[in-house]
Amino acid sequence: MSKQVCIYCASSQQVAAKYFQHSREITAQIIASDHHIIYGGGASGLMGAVADTVIENKGRIIGVMPHFMKTVEWNHPDVTEMIYVDTMAARKERMIEGTDVFIALPGGTGTLEEIIEVITLKRLGQTHASIIFYNQDGYYDAMHQMISRAVDERFMTASHLDMIHFVSTQAELMDLVNAEADAIIDINTAVVR
Ligand code: AMP
Repeated sequence: MSKQVCIYCASSQQVAAKYFQHSREITAQIIASDHHIIYGGGASGLMGAVADTVIENKGRIIGVMPHFMKTVEWNHPDVTEMIYVDTMAARKERMIEGTDVFIALPGGTGTLEEIIEVITLKRLGQTHASIIFYNQDGYYDAMHQMISRAVDERFMTASHLDMIHFVSTQAELMDLVNAEADAIIDINTAVVR
C-alpha cells in the first residue's frame, strides 16, 4: 500500500555529513517503496536533502510552508507541489492531514515540536499513524529518557511509550514504514487516572 510519509527534520545546513547521508538514504528507500513524502517545504539542511533526493529519484513530494517563509525565499524552488498557508500552526495541521507515518530525523526545536505534537494527538486518538524517531547515533536517546521518566513517575503510562518507535537502523525504520498500521488508540487510555 502506498502511504503518505511525513518527514520532520533539521533546517540547519551546518550538521555533520553523516546526517545528510542518512537522510538521503532513507528518503530514497521510501520513494523506492512507492510512498510519497510531505515535509516543511524548505531547501536548506536535511529538509533540502530530503527534497533533492525525492526529485532525483522522480518521486512525489509535497511541501507545506507559511507565506512568510516564501517571502524570504526559504521554499525549495524545485518542489512543484507546494502548499502555502498563513501560520506555523496551519502548516503543522496540513502536514498531519492524510499522513500514515511520521518520521523525525535528527533536528532542532522545530522538529521536536512537530513530532511531540503528533505524539500528543496519538495519545488522544486523533491520529493512528505510526510515529518513528530515527535515533541515528543515539541522537534521540535523551528524548527516550525524558519520556521514560514521565512514565516512571506516572505522568504518562507505559502504553504511551509503546505508541512511539525509536529505531537506530534504516532497516528497522523501513520495516515500520512498510508495516500494517498501528492499532487504533482508545481515547480512554490517554489520561493517567
Ligand atoms: P529545526 O529542526 O529546528 O531546524 O526546525 C525545522 C523547522 O524549522 C521547520 O519545520 C521550519 O518550521 C523551520 N525552519 C527554520 N528554518 C527554515 C528554513 N530555512 N526553511 C524552511 N523551514 C525552516
